[in-house]
Amino acid sequence: MKASKMLIATLKEAPQEAKIDSHILLLRAGMIKAQVAGVYQFLPLGLRVLHKIENIIREEMDASGAVEILCSALQPKELWEESGRWSKYGPELMRLTDRHEREFCLGPTHEEVFTTLVRDLVKSSKNLPLNIYQIQTKYRDERRPRFGLMRGREFLMKDAYTFDKDEEGLNASYQNMYDTYSRIFTRLGLHYQVVLADTGNIGGNGSHQFMALSDIGESEIVYCDACGYAADVEKATAKLVKEPKEDALPLEKVHTPNQRTIEEISSFLGVDAKKTAKTLIYHDYVNEKLVAVVVRGDREVNEIKLVNALNSNENYLELASDAEIESLKSVHGFVGPKDLPCEVYVDEEVTELSNFVIGANEKDYHYKNVNYGRDFTGKVCDLRKNVAGDLCPVCGKPMGQERGIEVGQIFKLQTKYSEPMNCVYVNEEGKNVPMVMGCYGIGVSRTLQSIVEQYHDEFGIKWPLNVAPYHAVIVPINFNDADQQALSLKAYEALCGKSEVILDDRNAKPGFKFKDWELMGIPYMIICGKRSNEGIVEFKNRETLEKQELPLEEAVKIILKAVQEI
Ligand code: ATP
Ligand code: MG
Repeated sequence: MKASKMLIATLKEAPQEAKIDSHILLLRAGMIKAQVAGVYQFLPLGLRVLHKIENIIREEMDASGAVEILCSALQPKELWEESGRWSKYGPELMRLTDRHEREFCLGPTHEEVFTTLVRDLVKSSKNLPLNIYQIQTKYRDERRPRFGLMRGREFLMKDAYTFDKDEEGLNASYQNMYDTYSRIFTRLGLHYQVVLADTGNIGGNGSHQFMALSDIGESEIVYCDACGYAADVEKATAKLVKEPKEDALPLEKVHTPNQRTIEEISSFLGVDAKKTAKTLIYHDYVNEKLVAVVVRGDREVNEIKLVNALNSNENYLELASDAEIESLKSVHGFVGPKDLPCEVYVDEEVTELSNFVIGANEKDYHYKNVNYGRDFTGKVCDLRKNVAGDLCPVCGKPMGQERGIEVGQIFKLQTKYSEPMNCVYVNEEGKNVPMVMGCYGIGVSRTLQSIVEQYHDEFGIKWPLNVAPYHAVIVPINFNDADQQALSLKAYEALCGKSEVILDDRNAKPGFKFKDWELMGIPYMIICGKRSNEGIVEFKNRETLEKQELPLEEAVKIILKAVQEI
């Protein structure tokens, strides 16, 4: 490819909206271009990378025994009513109406579509197990689209669905996908960790996430080095630490003027935050009620655990307004679980405390020497967010914490969709039995950006060779110099057809050209300069930034060998 014919769209400065390195670099390197918030166009180089990632995914999926199809993004409302998700999915679902007032959505995921497809096409158990997948554009009206391709409103996903006769079959299919995902992310060069996950909107039980490790990741992971336990914080549990009980002291109401937060109250009363409990009021719109949640003062509520305890939906759960808190005869900043006229959910850790502090549901007052059981009760369950230092639920050792980008997730769906949607097969006794399903997603566009997040430096992207848009670029210092032009063309011919190579025939300053290719992350650069008449080039490695003078043939050999190895 001649550089003069490419749509090179590198930028000196990243647009304001980009906050993280990978987003800044994808925009600056001209890999993608923003359309509106959370919606991007892929420019030529970005598209080449995307195709390479897709192809690695495709090769591994095909090798695993899966078959590829392509479904429409437009999905009729009726399908979603069959599964019960039309009303449950919430504001993330992009809904639209056609000229005949028929309602549709743009698919955020395809359980309904694949389930009905198999229901209509597969009748005999001879066709099972079945694993079908697609690489297709998804739509989600995310509350906060951000970080470029990381959280888009339109994005590319590989989604696969398995259909088995029974639980045992599902377990085998699930393990097969677990192994396939591990191979895919290894081939893509990502540093990743597999963690236990919550099943969210998709439902069913049994799930893992594949996390690309990164400080900018939106997911938090707690893990145990001792036994290998690792879980998304939404799902993580920890061993409950049993505290020795103190003798219960008499309950005392204390004046705490303007002391609202846990920090304020613990310093005002001179007690450790661990000897306080905080009470949050939530509005659960699914069950249409207000509920109180009590956790230790130094803890955060894990809203996913709460959603599961309430059998609610994360899109339909919000912190209550001041007016709603007042409707419970309480006041913001002084809420406590004692005598509160609503259901109270108590984190199990709170029941281990003795003589602790809570709000008194009265402005400027708290209770001291509170004891669970005597002063208030509630539904006790695990509702706290776990953090580093909490004890591993498996082996009891203190856990660590890190951040990750969720690049893939796999679920055991069981019969969550096949049963209501009547996706059945006929068993040996002639009875209709719902198929047992699994579903498996990879965020293809998010994966692309995750690679950049892990592979870059201050000069730009450092694409791993197997996903790089091109393998090598030939840069003559001065294309109008006869020797340099001749050697460049010779290098180009030697590499063309055997590798993916660019010839930078642009009439620009050499420093500008070097910077450009470094930004775009092309793994190898051959520079034809003043020793061109001797056949000597400068050979530069993008990853290591090493530069060496070599005969052209040597440089070509190194590149072709590396390309052959991928
Ligand atoms: P998240 O928790 O990040 O919102 P999710 O769990 O809702 O993601 P899944 O339904 O599991 O996502 O979708 C499968 C994969 O699609 C995810 O693992 C992720 O890599 C990718 N993905 C999900 N939402 C987005 C998005 N808004 N933009 C880009 N990729 C996404
Ligand atoms: Mg997920």
